[in-house]
Amino acid sequence: MLYDMANRFLSEEIVPHYERFEKAEMFDRESWEKAGAAGLLCASMPEEYGGAGGTFAHESAILEAVSHVGVDGFGIALHNAIVAPYILHYGTDEQKKRWLPKLASGELIGAIAMTEPGAGSDLQGVKTRAEKAGNQYRLNGSKTFITNGQLANLIIVVAKTDPEKGAKGTSLLVVETDGADGFERGRNLDKIGLKSNDTSELFFNDLMVPTANLLGEDEGQGFAQLMQQLPQERLLIAGQAIAMIERALAVTIDYVKERKAFGAKVIDFQNTQFKLAELKTEATIGRVFYNDCVSRHITGGLDTATASMAKYWMTDLQCKVVDECLQLHGGYGYMNEYPIARMYRDARVQRIYGGTNEIMKLVIARGL
Ligand SMILES: Cc1cc2nc3c(=O)[nH]c(=O)nc-3n(C[C@H](O)[C@H](O)[C@H](O)COP(=O)(O)OP(=O)(O)OC[C@H]3O[C@@H](n4cnc5c(N)ncnc54)[C@H](O)[C@@H]3O)c2cc1C
Repeated sequence: MLYDMANRFLSEEIVPHYERFEKAEMFDRESWEKAGAAGLLCASMPEEYGGAGGTFAHESAILEAVSHVGVDGFGIALHNAIVAPYILHYGTDEQKKRWLPKLASGELIGAIAMTEPGAGSDLQGVKTRAEKAGNQYRLNGSKTFITNGQLANLIIVVAKTDPEKGAKGTSLLVVETDGADGFERGRNLDKIGLKSNDTSELFFNDLMVPTANLLGEDEGQGFAQLMQQLPQERLLIAGQAIAMIERALAVTIDYVKERKAFGAKVIDFQNTQFKLAELKTEATIGRVFYNDCVSRHITGGLDTATASMAKYWMTDLQCKVVDECLQLHGGYGYMNEYPIARMYRDARVQRIYGGTNEIMKLVIARGL
């Protein structure tokens, strides 16, 4: 029911404006607030904090609807299933009461800022520094590639509170950006795909953040907190991948049933049938694996290695399926007016963010 509702909402409220958002290279706030009013923000947060009291399965229904209707640039999955859970799991009661209801209404848009120009895969190399000054932290540094970076007004920042201690000196600070002196947004970065999603540089210059905005009771917990949230973050990307795979197949099957060449429909060629049979089989394997991971995750049994397998395998498959489906469209597949063209551009980053697929393999290999 939630999937159907999300699908209907997105088709009616987002799809008609999506071309405009793709051109503007960002969404508008109104769409976020409408999604909040429709119950699509923070579905897995407890009701007492403004959520719907659901689980990751509910988030999954929503993120699959986003991909199935083809509005992949709407950054609500990161907001719902990455940013809000950090606050729920590590925030104090006061922090949860202050931020979660506003994340659920769309008044606050969430982002998480880990990556820096000099630290991506190797997060231990983070240079952003949070220096204690009384009951505040003085934050200095810069971040890049931050999803929702132009619109976000609640940003979880990974910073070093004690650079001497390496990973153990890393903390998560919640930055409330509205009216904050010393906070600047850089460029909305020019990407090859996911155009409607704003991805930005962020700068912190002597930005004063209250110590009450530290996530968790003590400093130095940041790395452990990041590690604990990894399975869900990776699963989320796997979910986006399988949903796009299913959409790519659906639009391609429709296309080859219509398109004619050599007096036959493209579906009548044995190559088309074999290709689609192979892709459909792999999509089915992917769906079963993903659903199993979701079941395990909601009962607390999904380990990081398995989540990494889902992320790496499903996003590799996504790029392969979308590429093969584009091929079956011929020249029309290369035209932006056909949905498969946008899928081709949007899919590529899935193998890079959330930890590159090479890093996923390192994690899997470590547990062999
Ligand atoms: C559109 C987009 C949105 C993003 N959103 C966010 C966000 O919201 N928040 C955020 O914090 N970050 C975000 N990122 C950043 C993303 O997570 C990083 O780009 C990614 O983790 C890779 O880091 P890097 O770009 O520095 O690449 P590098 O770490 O420089 O990697 C370069 C290459 O080296 C490989 N490599 C690195 N280390 C190893 C190793 N040990 N063994 C083998 N190969 C290795 C990598 O796999 C890659 O192929 C986003 C990125 C993009 C493109």
